[in-house]
Amino acid sequence: MTGDPAVAACTVMTPDDFRTQGKALIDWVADYLETIEQRRVTSTVQPGEVRAQLPEHPPAAPEPFADVLADMDRVIAPGLTHWQHPSFFAFFPGNSSYASILGELASAGLGVQGMSWVTSPACTEVETLMMDWMIELLGLPERFHSRSSSGGGVIHGSASEATLTSILAARWRATGGAINRLGDTTKLVAYATSQAHSSIEKGLRIAGIGTDQLRIVPHDEQFAMRPDAFAELVAADVAAGLTPFWVCCSRGTTSSLAFDPTPEIAPIAHEHGMWVHVDAAMSGIAALVPELRWVNDGLDHADSYCTNPHKWMGVVFDCDLFYTADRTALLGALSILPEYLRSQAAETGAAIDYRDWQIPLGRRFRALKLWFTIRTGGAIEAQEMIRRHVDATRVLAELVAADDRFEALAPHPLNLLCLALRTGDEATDALIERANATGRVLFTRTVLDGRSALRFSIGGRTTEERHVRDGWALLQQLV
Ligand SMILES: *Cc1c(COP(=O)(O)O)cnc(C)c1O
Repeated sequence: MTGDPAVAACTVMTPDDFRTQGKALIDWVADYLETIEQRRVTSTVQPGEVRAQLPEHPPAAPEPFADVLADMDRVIAPGLTHWQHPSFFAFFPGNSSYASILGELASAGLGVQGMSWVTSPACTEVETLMMDWMIELLGLPERFHSRSSSGGGVIHGSASEATLTSILAARWRATGGAINRLGDTTKLVAYATSQAHSSIEKGLRIAGIGTDQLRIVPHDEQFAMRPDAFAELVAADVAAGLTPFWVCCSRGTTSSLAFDPTPEIAPIAHEHGMWVHVDAAMSGIAALVPELRWVNDGLDHADSYCTNPHKWMGVVFDCDLFYTADRTALLGALSILPEYLRSQAAETGAAIDYRDWQIPLGRRFRALKLWFTIRTGGAIEAQEMIRRHVDATRVLAELVAADDRFEALAPHPLNLLCLALRTGDEATDALIERANATGRVLFTRTVLDGRSALRFSIGGRTTEERHVRDGWALLQQLV
């Protein structure tokens, strides 16, 4: 068969093919992103339809890369929800800049495992540097800096991992740490509002603490935690012989971007030796803009903190920044040292082994996408983008206020507006469905104190005021 040109053309990928096809793929991605606005925001496929368009069994012989790329057009792209579409107003943004896409490609090309310093020194040291750069860019407290006596930061895949590692560190501290490695967790109690992220319940389950020991702290009419209610719950638990150990202050809740008052909650928590975790996965990145630095209020008292460049800074998923002011507790909870991972660099304390800061052992060179993004002006681009989104949200709020069929259900200091029809939940739900069915926009629904709300989340890299105005005009038309 070696003489058959069709077969010869189908050998496995060579270095030359990689150069050629790689460039073709970059072109494909750029074309996809540059023409995305011509597409519907959502796919029209039915369940099973994507798979049905692909062969049921793996190919017996290599196929030309061009065929794979053609299927990206034929099958994959039509089967997507286009998160990079400027009229994607659903969930939260997941915007990605060109520079960060290239950083991701570079990471894949290097193919290193950065579990410890010795397995790739540059992977560790660039990550530490990026965490320190982000402290400067976001105006975060020095106690999270790698040069501080007890803090530091690490890149996690997601805020959910940040929540879990924070719970594990707090559990370690509350149960006597090294003295009692497993620890008796039966008396531990955690606190959050009903508005906090689902990763808290999941984290408590994974940590073996369970959700019966999660207290739902009442919130005020702005959906923020009530410090007085928190203090009461803590006092009652202490009186019952329990051990309050962890509280989550959400700075920008997923549902409505409510801001728990960390400056008032942290002192109550610390009086009882609790760990204060600040979850600012979505909104923390707003601190890139000096006039929005209020999102950091209270961070001086946080034991741990996280925010996601993969939501609002144009860094491709996955990139969550996790900082702690107590790395002893974090490392106490997560360190492992089998013989094959021992190294002199780590044992002398000269190097960081990030495997001890996270759940998995293996880790990718995620810092590259942050480094590429920041060095090529991405932080400045993100500042402009954030200001544009906040301004557009303000415009939208004015438009909503001027139409008495609608009302805003929650404060909207940043880039999310939760709105509803005054005629009731059924009308609001029907409006969301009708709007989404057009394919021209995508909204998600939430429930705020029993009322249905349409979440208008403004965060696309290319989303401008005109997209927001168009989305609003569509809603008005469809009522
Ligand atoms: C998005 C979000 C999360 C979850 O983030 P992942 O990185 O997807 O796990 C957690 N908390 C808040 C406040 C969020 O906005």
